[in-house]
Amino acid sequence: MTDRDEFDRLLAVNDRYAESFEHSSLTARPARGLVIVTCMDTRLDVLRALGLDMGDAHVIRNAGGLATDDVIRSLIVSQQLLGTHEIFVIGHTGCGLLGADEDALRDRMVSETGEALHIAFGSFDDLDASVQASVERLRTHAWLKRVPVHGLVFDVATGRLREVTPA
Ligand code: ZN
Repeated sequence: MTDRDEFDRLLAVNDRYAESFEHSSLTARPARGLVIVTCMDTRLDVLRALGLDMGDAHVIRNAGGLATDDVIRSLIVSQQLLGTHEIFVIGHTGCGLLGADEDALRDRMVSETGEALHIAFGSFDDLDASVQASVERLRTHAWLKRVPVHGLVFDVATGRLREVTPA
């Protein structure tokens, strides 16, 4: 999307979407009690990949699908206020953070902006180990309920999910 015409086209699509909107009866509580932590990657449609419908699960996304502090914040809301009781952590092949040179990215940002940058981008070299580390953090975090936490990897070439940690 690069120009105003494209933006207007998308809003026109939304007009048609709203005319036949069928989800007004859903509540904020996920019907299946699930919450999925996953990457922002465009190739991941985690609801369809698991046969879930709108309203079934929370989906918390960020770069890498990592169990960051802000993911913990969202999970507390999900568990305490909206009743979820099972977590899926889904990483994927071909992730932009897999093998990314975090120091080079930080240096580039500093040289482009002149501002110091203290963000950890969370790049990783071992996909399974990254998913397992997120699973472990969620299983042991003091503020989270002791619920099943499943670790999975989605293959962007096949659409197949592979379990990397038993719940
Ligand atoms: Zn990714």
